Amino acid sequence: MAFEGLADRLQNTIQKIKGKGKVTEQDVKEMTREVRLALLEADVNFKVVKDFIKKVKERAVGQEVMESLTPGQQVIKVVKEELTQLMGGDESKIAVADKPPTVIMMVGLQGAGKTTTTGKLANLLRKKYNRKPLLVAADVYRPAAIDQLETLGKQLNMPVYSEGTDANPVDIANKAMERAKEEHLDYVIIDTAGRLHVDNELMDELIQIKQNVNPDEVFLVVDSMTGQDAVNVAESFNEQLNISGVVLTKLDGDTRGGAALSIKAVTEKPIKFAGMGEKLDELEVFHPERMASRILGMGDVLSLIEKAQENVDEKRAKELEEKMRSASFTLDDFLEQMGQVKNMGPLDELIDMIPGANKMKGLKNVDFDEKQISHVEAIIQSMTVKERQDPSVINASRRKRIARGSGRSVSEVNRLLKQFEEMKKMMKQMTNSQQGKKGKKGKK
Ligand code: GDP
Repeated sequence: MAFEGLADRLQNTIQKIKGKGKVTEQDVKEMTREVRLALLEADVNFKVVKDFIKKVKERAVGQEVMESLTPGQQVIKVVKEELTQLMGGDESKIAVADKPPTVIMMVGLQGAGKTTTTGKLANLLRKKYNRKPLLVAADVYRPAAIDQLETLGKQLNMPVYSEGTDANPVDIANKAMERAKEEHLDYVIIDTAGRLHVDNELMDELIQIKQNVNPDEVFLVVDSMTGQDAVNVAESFNEQLNISGVVLTKLDGDTRGGAALSIKAVTEKPIKFAGMGEKLDELEVFHPERMASRILGMGDVLSLIEKAQENVDEKRAKELEEKMRSASFTLDDFLEQMGQVKNMGPLDELIDMIPGANKMKGLKNVDFDEKQISHVEAIIQSMTVKERQDPSVINASRRKRIARGSGRSVSEVNRLLKQFEEMKKMMKQMTNSQQGKKGKKGKK
C-alpha cells in the first residue's frame, strides 16, 4: 500500500501532540525530531528533510499555534500544509495547445512504466476530459514496446501510429502529427525509447525529437519504488530535456514515499499523475493536498466521492438503499452492490481514504482479500433466480449443488447464507430504530 511505513510513523507522532491544550517548544522539538526520522527513513532527500523541518518548526512555535485555541490541532495543520507544499501545492493542469493536436512526449528509463502509462494517460484523457488521443510508437529499438503499445491501443479501441523498427523516431513523430491533424485527433502521445541507465545517445535522440515536434508537455515517467534513484533520474532528465512534469508509477507498492516527497523540491517540476496499479484505469491525477491528507491518516473523502461517482450509478444506488430499508434486499442486489464496490478499486486503498479508518482496530490489519469477493460472487452466480430472491428455499441438496457449481465448499455456502441473513436482520433493526426515533420526535 502507498506510503504505509511513513504514514504509520507520522500518524503515531502527530497523535501524541494532537490533543494538547498547550504546545511547548520542547513538544515541538520532540515532534519535529520524530518527523525528521520518519522522513529520512522513508528515503526522502536529506536536504529536503532539513528545509521541511525548519519550516514546520518556525511555524509550530509561531503565533498561529500559540494563539490558537487548539494548539495541538494547529500544529498538525501546519505539518499537513507543509507536506502539501512539499509535493507541489496545488494540483497541476495538463496542457491544451491553442491549435490541436496537443503533443505529449513520454520519456523515462526502461521498466519505469512508460508504455503502460502512455496507454493509461490516453484512457484518462478520453474518460475524464473527453479527448481523442493518438498513441505513437517511437521506441524503435525494442520491438516488444511497439507490440505492447499496439495491444494497448486495441484494448482501449484507440488509434496507434507505428512504422515498425526501421523508421527514424523523428520521422515517426512528424508523420504521426500529420495523421492526427487529418483525423482531427486532439492529443498525440509519443512513447519514446528507454534505456537501463541515462546515457548520452538516448538523451541526444530525445532532444532531437523534442526540437522537432515542439511538445506541449514532456512527461518523465519514474518508478516511485526506486526512491532517491528516481529523484536522481528526474534531475538528469530535467537538466537535459527541461521536462514539464513527472508521472510517478507504482505508487501502489511504494511503502516509503521518498520519491513522491522529494521530486518537486529537487527538480522544481510538479508530479502530475500517479500510477496506482497495472490496470489501464489505475492512473490518478496527483493531488498534493489529498496525498498529504492520506499520509497523515486524515482520509481523502474527495477522491472517494469521485471514485464512487465514476463507478456507481447514483439512481441505482438509491434504489438499493430503499430496498435495504424495506428489507426486500436480495442476493442479486448484494451481488450488484459488490460489483460496484469492486469497480472502485482495491478495498484496502478505499479504506485508506476514509478519515480515521486506519485507527479503527477492526479495520486495521484486516486482510481484504479480493479473491474472497470473487468466491462470494461465484457462489451467488451458481444459484437459480428463485434462490437468489428467496434464500429460504435453499435446502441441503441445493447447498451441495451450489457448492459444486461454484467450486467452493458447502461450509462456505452456509457461511454466506448466514451472513446474508444476519445482514438483513441488522438492516431491519436499523430501519426500526430510525423509525422509532422519528416517531418520538413527532410526538414532541
Ligand atoms: P517501460 O519499459 O517503461 O515502457 O515499462 P512498461 O510500461 O513495460 O512497464 C513495466 C512494468 O511495470 C509492467 O509490468 C507494468 O505492468 C508495470 N507498471 C507500470 N505502471 C505501474 C503502476 O502504476 N503500478 C504497478 N503495480 N505496476 C505498474
